[in-house]
Amino acid sequence: MSHSEQHAGVTDFTIGESVTTQTEQGLYIDPNALTAHLPALHYRDDALYMEQVSVAALAKHYGTPCYVYSKQAILDVYQAYTDSFSSLKHQVCYAVKANSNLAVLGILAQAGAGFDIVSRGELMRVLAAGGEAARVVFSGVGKTRGDIKYALTQGIGCFNVESISELTLINDVAKSLDKPAPISLRVNPDVDANTHPYISTGLKDNKFGIAHEDAATVYQQAAELSHIDIVGIDCHIGSQLTEVEPFVAALDKIIELVHSLRDKGIELRHIDLGGGLGVRYIDETPVSIDEFAEALLPKLSALGLTVFFEPGRSIVANAGILLTTVDVLKPTEHKNFAIVDAAMNDLIRPALYQAEMAVIPEMLPQNGLDTDGTQPWDIVGAICETGDFLAKDRLLSLATGDVLAITGAGAYGFTMSSNYNSRPRASEVMVADDRHQLIRKRETIEALYADETLWQAE
Ligand SMILES: *Cc1c(COP(=O)(O)O)cnc(C)c1O
Repeated sequence: MSHSEQHAGVTDFTIGESVTTQTEQGLYIDPNALTAHLPALHYRDDALYMEQVSVAALAKHYGTPCYVYSKQAILDVYQAYTDSFSSLKHQVCYAVKANSNLAVLGILAQAGAGFDIVSRGELMRVLAAGGEAARVVFSGVGKTRGDIKYALTQGIGCFNVESISELTLINDVAKSLDKPAPISLRVNPDVDANTHPYISTGLKDNKFGIAHEDAATVYQQAAELSHIDIVGIDCHIGSQLTEVEPFVAALDKIIELVHSLRDKGIELRHIDLGGGLGVRYIDETPVSIDEFAEALLPKLSALGLTVFFEPGRSIVANAGILLTTVDVLKPTEHKNFAIVDAAMNDLIRPALYQAEMAVIPEMLPQNGLDTDGTQPWDIVGAICETGDFLAKDRLLSLATGDVLAITGAGAYGFTMSSNYNSRPRASEVMVADDRHQLIRKRETIEALYADETLWQAE
């Protein structure tokens, strides 16, 4: 289906086509062209809508800053994964850390998703949202005795183990509960994911996983432990990968291992390829889920194992926006600053990963780039840090009180938010068709210090 069919009245924009114009003054992002790539968003009579709900109405009703997610956009990507791999026995384990709101988890659990978790807290969320522990894989480089005990008691599907020391700890806990622990080893295949260094995890120097060349030995050690049940093999090489080659390179290395384990009498039930598929935030051209499946399927079919995936970002990133209001316009001799009511505590990706995220207006300007009053703006928060920016040098026509939407904010947005500067965290809203619901209320300021006490010892 072409994009023009999805959004009647909008010019057809093809996948690889740029939605930006770089001028000497700054970057212009065409809001119509951008939203043509974002299934949940469109302009109707120049006003921005998510599904069938006006963004202006949402900002008015819930206030800003506010995260808004599209139920349909979440389900569509989940469905694309399960459809693309339908010829294989597979399980999509949504990576909870990308967006852990109960409503998001509940929608995915109902659709049949499993989950990838990295803490006891995330497991508790999954269970509270109606997910099944048996369909959960427990990742993460440092699990505590308490985490392991809780997960085993709940009937976790699999621990993805990252070291020998973790393996013996899991065996210990399993023994004390007299309950065998299902495990896979997270293998570090030493491939370059070609992504930002902070979200690259499959290189020798990273803290993650067990070195590819040591994996067979560790599997043999695992096989000798009394309360370890070896069920799979796992890797996760990084996040926001836009090419398929690193996935294929990692898979080849894992397959080699599966064969050598078979020769040693160790039979696995599943192979877990982790998450990491990238999304189009502005002009990126990530491999599609279809192309991803096409590249991997022939190799996977030959293996005869159940395939697990742990996608996070690709499922929720483009299902979400962060709504913010322009509070202050501060033109200076060298730069113009638009100070908005969202800040790095709400959305840290630009500051932490140098991520470029699109900022689009709630009301479309009449003549786009040529609009009178279009100027380069840095969109910044009110926090006392120079790193507190959401976007830099963007050509926009702004007035105080304008509502802006930061797109691609559904993943690693709210979950990475903090209370820095004693700022309450934003509210979250789910939209489905013409309905909307508050799925997390804005924190109160009192709640931020409710658990603190004055010093009273003297
Ligand atoms: C973060 C993470 C994921 C999800 O990665 P995305 O890039 O969001 O798909 C999956 N598995 C593990 C082990 C992770 O740490």
